[in-house]
Amino acid sequence: MQKSQEKPSLSGLSELELIKLAEGLNWPSFKGKTLHSWIYKKWANSFEEMSDLSKKDREALEEKYTLSSLLLEEKQVSKDKTIKYLWKSQYGDLIESVRMFLEEHDSYSACISSQVGCAVGCPFCATGTIGFKKNLSANQIIEQILNIQRDTKERLNNIVFMGQGEPLLNYDEVIKAVYLIKDSVSIGARRITISTSGIVPQIKKLAEEKLQVTLAVSLHAADQETREFLVPISKKYKMPDLMEALHFYYNKTKRRITIEYVMLDGINDQVEKARALADLLKGLHCHVNLIPYNPTDVGNFHGKALKRTPMPKIYKFKDVLEKTSRKKVTIRHERGVDINAACGQLANKFVD
Ligand code: SF4
Repeated sequence: MQKSQEKPSLSGLSELELIKLAEGLNWPSFKGKTLHSWIYKKWANSFEEMSDLSKKDREALEEKYTLSSLLLEEKQVSKDKTIKYLWKSQYGDLIESVRMFLEEHDSYSACISSQVGCAVGCPFCATGTIGFKKNLSANQIIEQILNIQRDTKERLNNIVFMGQGEPLLNYDEVIKAVYLIKDSVSIGARRITISTSGIVPQIKKLAEEKLQVTLAVSLHAADQETREFLVPISKKYKMPDLMEALHFYYNKTKRRITIEYVMLDGINDQVEKARALADLLKGLHCHVNLIPYNPTDVGNFHGKALKRTPMPKIYKFKDVLEKTSRKKVTIRHERGVDINAACGQLANKFVD
């Protein structure tokens, strides 16, 4: 990957912006389209590769711009071929992304970050312990995607905003990035998932955007008290308001919502909690995804380490929830656990 940090990056500019850039250089506007194609369709690593631009043009670009402001700091490949990337921004911020192979769909998915750290502070999540550092720009969000494609030479088919950060607390840049993913990276909105801890006003705002993205909500509990412990921001956005926002989202978009539910031993995994969840979700068009808790060295409940619900108990919970709610319930297939790349494990830590 190209190694210029101070110059502005062209990755993350729309076709129109690249046309304007070309015109600003006194070039014909079609060269903006040429640049767009090299960046988004051919995943160029350097201006040198842009063989249909003259040497003079390439040198002019090289002098002023870069193709990536994120430099690869570290990369790890898991036993299951999941790849975890650590990028360093020109300001020294560390940003993580994960690429997964989805055998069931024979496709690749990238889990990308929208912030450095996170303010929400969920106790089961390693990112939460870092605290909030910074919002990422739309450029930095897009560069994660382009850099993964540049590195692997394989096209990504799905993008999930489930890396570091709460995407809806960086709303404007995330939405700008979603439009670029759709229009420039050419991954349809239906293949983009935005995962939120439940930021009620922004869920409603997103519903009005007329985007066809999938909304995933980290619910993790059906009662206010347990949820306040697991997702502290729910002290501000209470359960009835969240449920009302989810119904609003569905009514506006007609997109089925994904409910994420991390399975924690003795905390939210009892059979009665499955029934309470079924009750809460009554009338909402959604699918429930149960997430076996991934070990971090940070998660604790009143000083006791958080533990994963044993698998037989997860199957029982699923069974009760399915029968009582008649909704589709799945158990998330874990990926990249050995390199701390699984859900809730992203904290800029790279294992030896
Ligand atoms: S689970 Fe998501 S919202 Fe909660 S602390 Fe981690 S990154 Fe933030």
